[in-house]
Amino acid sequence: MPDFDYQLVVIGSGPGGYIAAIRAAQLGLKVAIVEKDKTLGGTCLNVGCIPSKALLASTEHLHFARERFAAHGIIAKDLQVDLGAMMKRKSEVVGKLTSGVAYLMKKNKIEVVRGFGKPLDAGTVEVTDENGAKKTLKTQNILLATGSAPIELPFLKFDGKRVISSDQGIALEKVPKSLLVIGAGAIGLELGSVWRRLGAEVTVIEFLPRIAAVGFDAEISKILQRSLEKLGVKFELGTKIESAKVTDKGVELSGSNASGAVTYKADLVLVAVGRKPFAAGLDLEKIGVKMTERGRIATDAHLRTSVPGIWAIGDVIDGPMLAHKAHEEGVAVAELMAGKPGEVNYRIIPGVVYTAPEAASVGLTEEEAKEKNIAVRVGKFSFTANGRAIANDTTEGFVKIIADAKTDRVLGAHIVASNASELIAETVLLMEFGGSAEDLARTVHAHPTMSEAVKEAALGVDGRMLSA
Ligand SMILES: Cc1cc2nc3c(=O)[nH]c(=O)nc-3n(C[C@H](O)[C@H](O)[C@H](O)COP(=O)(O)OP(=O)(O)OC[C@H]3O[C@@H](n4cnc5c(N)ncnc54)[C@H](O)[C@@H]3O)c2cc1C
Repeated sequence: MPDFDYQLVVIGSGPGGYIAAIRAAQLGLKVAIVEKDKTLGGTCLNVGCIPSKALLASTEHLHFARERFAAHGIIAKDLQVDLGAMMKRKSEVVGKLTSGVAYLMKKNKIEVVRGFGKPLDAGTVEVTDENGAKKTLKTQNILLATGSAPIELPFLKFDGKRVISSDQGIALEKVPKSLLVIGAGAIGLELGSVWRRLGAEVTVIEFLPRIAAVGFDAEISKILQRSLEKLGVKFELGTKIESAKVTDKGVELSGSNASGAVTYKADLVLVAVGRKPFAAGLDLEKIGVKMTERGRIATDAHLRTSVPGIWAIGDVIDGPMLAHKAHEEGVAVAELMAGKPGEVNYRIIPGVVYTAPEAASVGLTEEEAKEKNIAVRVGKFSFTANGRAIANDTTEGFVKIIADAKTDRVLGAHIVASNASELIAETVLLMEFGGSAEDLARTVHAHPTMSEAVKEAALGVDGRMLSA
């Protein structure tokens, strides 16, 4: 008789944890998943990817109705916003997806254990429920998938009212007159867009000299900034915020940039300077689990921690804090536990900023190719010459394909487009198969589609675009 009740206990039900649980169950393992929050799905489904996209969709409709309907011959007078209804829809979207995860747990015979999970040793997880009652689960493997939490600035502590994180940024009950956003990464730009479209004066303050600086091509940053400025978002780049005054009436931030001291005042400040791994209360070092210098759980190439039988994935370990990265690690770790060759290709992980237009990137940027002394050829095609984009009224943006100058292998793709998050997928697949720009250029694309711009950019690598 084995001396364990489960072959796997997963701690955390985000896109890393719940996917790992499902894959492990598919492979015949007896699995339990422990979650401390009321609903399953983690940051992504509850307060991250999904609610932000629901609000982006609603406010994009509003913006399009206000700014573009007339050109389409649609007269929409007296447009009004019912913020309560918009938030209710967002909550319904979240509810549908989190209950979908609960259904998947049931379908795959995964036991859901409510409470705070803590590994006591490599074979035991202690779960404390909301009433303080404890129970222990005996298991062969433990998977830590505890995710991340917003980073707080030391002089600007979150109070949920004037100083907010994305958790509140997706749930404000009224539109602020003015909003400062610290951080021009995906979360800051997306939530900044939402509240700007709803009428707030939005200023995004960024320490780096450009927006979407991490993982995105410099040309993308430029065009994204231009389009957000058109929307009315203001940018203060190369600016460091060093102190803050918070009162009942608003916030005042002080700092400096190349022109000297600066101050900004607003009703609210959204701090979106990044997220930190969340392993609070787990006392991992006590049981021998090593952490990295940056406070993440250290893992090897097979997602094993320093303690045999304890594994870790997702935001709590190294790598980009993205749901699809956590998801793929969930699949890989379950397969590795079951003795199969699970693997994640970290070189080919797309990143997206879901503004309008969206920005999507995968692989090497042109600047990175230069830094690494890799000779490349670049093809670029603008949506102003794409038939579907003209018909759709979505001509803002371009596709840029970066190919190895010698082998023609595609090394990177960078897209700004209304649906860049979808368009990037074919280049991701192409790169996964080690395909060339020529392969992409010779692939038949339906006409008229936005995806023809991807093919044209691939033709452009060889200087033979047909539509520009
Ligand atoms: C506003 C916002 C927008 C985002 N948009 C996107 C996007 O568009 N695309 C994208 O790819 N990524 C996006 N992200 C990032 C994405 O949400 C994360 O990368 C992803 O959720 C990480 O998954 P995970 O499984 O590692 O952890 P999480 O989703 O954080 O899940 C961890 C879970 O573990 C639980 N937990 C933690 N400790 C314990 C414990 N001791 N016991 C029991 N349960 C515990 C937590 O309650 C949580 O449910 C966004 C994030 C935010 C905040």
